[in-house]
Amino acid sequence: MSGMLYLVPTPIGNLGDISLRCRETLENADFIAAEDTRVTMKLLNHLGIKKNLVSYYEHNKGFKGNVILDRILAGETCVLVSDAGSPAISDPGEDLVRLCAENGITVCAIPGPCAVITGLSISGLPTGRFCFEGFLSTSKKSRNEHLESLINETRTMIFYEAPHKLVNTLVDMQGVFGPHRKISLCRELTKLHEEVVRTTLAEAIEHYQQTPPKGEFVLVVEGAAPKEKETATAEDAAARVAQLVADGMSRKDAIKQTAKELNLPKNVVYDAALENNA
Ligand code: SAM
Repeated sequence: MSGMLYLVPTPIGNLGDISLRCRETLENADFIAAEDTRVTMKLLNHLGIKKNLVSYYEHNKGFKGNVILDRILAGETCVLVSDAGSPAISDPGEDLVRLCAENGITVCAIPGPCAVITGLSISGLPTGRFCFEGFLSTSKKSRNEHLESLINETRTMIFYEAPHKLVNTLVDMQGVFGPHRKISLCRELTKLHEEVVRTTLAEAIEHYQQTPPKGEFVLVVEGAAPKEKETATAEDAAARVAQLVADGMSRKDAIKQTAKELNLPKNVVYDAALENNA
């Protein structure tokens, strides 16, 4: 009979956040698949647990995934942990879960610490509807494409970000969402220097240009205001194109952006701009 895969969330800062059930599951596992065995070893030492560790991370997940799968198929119970938080959320655990599911293995996820949910709940922004956007790309082009795809997103948006990329990301967000969009920057959650800065994109940029960011961040960004039911008119479209061109955007880009913002087909915006000499 095959074994099982357990997903065990680990503290995102405060070691006291490990639950009794997580502890028990780690104790009962045949082996633990860990993103960074040194990080997990520290946690196991803290808990007084001795266990066989297997490394499973981004650059060995193809090969190691199959090794882990074979052991589970042979009857062993594996616990998957990431460096911190819930495995499979913005880490390679996602692939191991898929592999196990495809091979008919039972996967059991234990609830617990997760940076995205902790950040959202503390943000002060609407939590009723939200979307998790993970990490933005390090490439400026892909980062902007990702952000532009969210221009009409009305749900609260959540991103993961590293401190050295924070200011560039905020500048790009301001370019797409505008300077007044609210943002809650949740830093070092559950740790000694936990901090939540609830502000706007423009103020956040000013703040972190003066005070270089430190620690890990969850960025929670207010969604766009819901669109008025009324459909935008040709005059609205022409006026918006004219405004964007006056702000320095090329006419082609201004038409593209206006079409996105006003939810109109590009050819309609193009014709409106032409008729109104925008
Ligand atoms: N799977 C984990 C989860 O969802 O909880 C997250 C893994 S992801 C590789 C790591 C990112 O989570 C960090 O870059 C940061 O954006 C966020 N993060 C993790 N711990 C955090 C903390 N204590 N405070 C703020 N953000 C944190």
